Amino acid sequence: MTVRIGVIGAGAIGREHVRRINQVLAGAEVVALSDVNRASAEKVKAEIALTAEIFESGEALIDSPKVDAVLVTSWGATHEQYVLAALAARKPCFCEKPLATIAEGAKRIVDAEVKHGKRLVQVGFMRRYDVGYVALKQAVASRIGAPILVHAAHRNPTVPEQYVTPMAIHDTLIHEIDVLRWLLDDDYVSARVLFPRKAARSHAKLRDPQVVLLETKKGVLIDVEVFVNCHYGYDIQCEIVGEDGVAKLPEPMAVKVRLDASLQNPILTDWKDRFVDSYDVELRDFINAAAKGGVSGPTAWDGYVAAITSDACVAAQEREGEPIAINLPTRPALYN
Ligand code: NAP
Repeated sequence: MTVRIGVIGAGAIGREHVRRINQVLAGAEVVALSDVNRASAEKVKAEIALTAEIFESGEALIDSPKVDAVLVTSWGATHEQYVLAALAARKPCFCEKPLATIAEGAKRIVDAEVKHGKRLVQVGFMRRYDVGYVALKQAVASRIGAPILVHAAHRNPTVPEQYVTPMAIHDTLIHEIDVLRWLLDDDYVSARVLFPRKAARSHAKLRDPQVVLLETKKGVLIDVEVFVNCHYGYDIQCEIVGEDGVAKLPEPMAVKVRLDASLQNPILTDWKDRFVDSYDVELRDFINAAAKGGVSGPTAWDGYVAAITSDACVAAQEREGEPIAINLPTRPALYN
């Protein structure tokens, strides 16, 4: 069976996912596109999805009998309305992060999915599919003993002027929030944020870098440096200290060069290159499950927990140094 996919949002990652589905992966085809700016959808159609129909609204795309499954890759603030519409149409839905920009929105999605009684939402937390993170999870589960500390860093070379301080949490840290919880098989109980002096390349409305401290139910202390104008590259680091040993996320594969009396090892600069394979694997997972009418992978509950945690981290930014409690509701049985 070929899964007929409709994509809402033909921007940077929407275009990448359309390319993946039509040119890299088997078992699916993009048959429908929609974007608030029709010209963006037309451009992607002309470049990659030549036979796709363009719909005037995301809702019309979701309701079309030609569409079996939905990809939501529009701006974060629009995700909730489309995911709820896909749930109402009972169609498998892959939603890019964030599931919703605030926890209340993610809760409405969880409530709707629980009411339907069947999982239909996969959230685009692609790091869970990264070969390095998968190996790190195995080491944490079986080799280094119970985790005690985590040191992580999320560094981007640069961000645009419109990237403001809370986006360091909602847009950037959200990946660590999800992947660390998954790596540790644990949940967060509190968040604190500390700011050193502002880096010279930071923008007027951005305090950069910052350190987020998270504490888990099992008593693990996590520090994550978020530095989005680090200049030198796109650099994701993660080290877990356990009772018996330390496990570190492997660096991406790169040729080492000995030259001019130095040992040179290139560092990537583009997030698309760093996780290119994991995007392929997460969408393959989505297509395989959608072919059977369901989903697998990160759940709406994971998206909701990430949203609750990121809301707490933003509150912690506003009350620098103060611990903000993270209280999770009881997990519905659908997500056990
Ligand atoms: P982008 O380039 O700005 O693309 C978003 C697209 O959505 C734009 O074409 C935009 O329209 C369109 N859009 C906005 N509102 C819409 C609506 N109501 N209905 C339909 N289309 C609408 O952004 P992006 O970088 O692709 O990011 C999209 C989402 O993916 C974000 O939530 C982001 O956080 C997430 N993302 C995830 C990853 C990851 O690593 N998993 C990486 C990148 C992005 P215009 O044509 O008018 O701009």
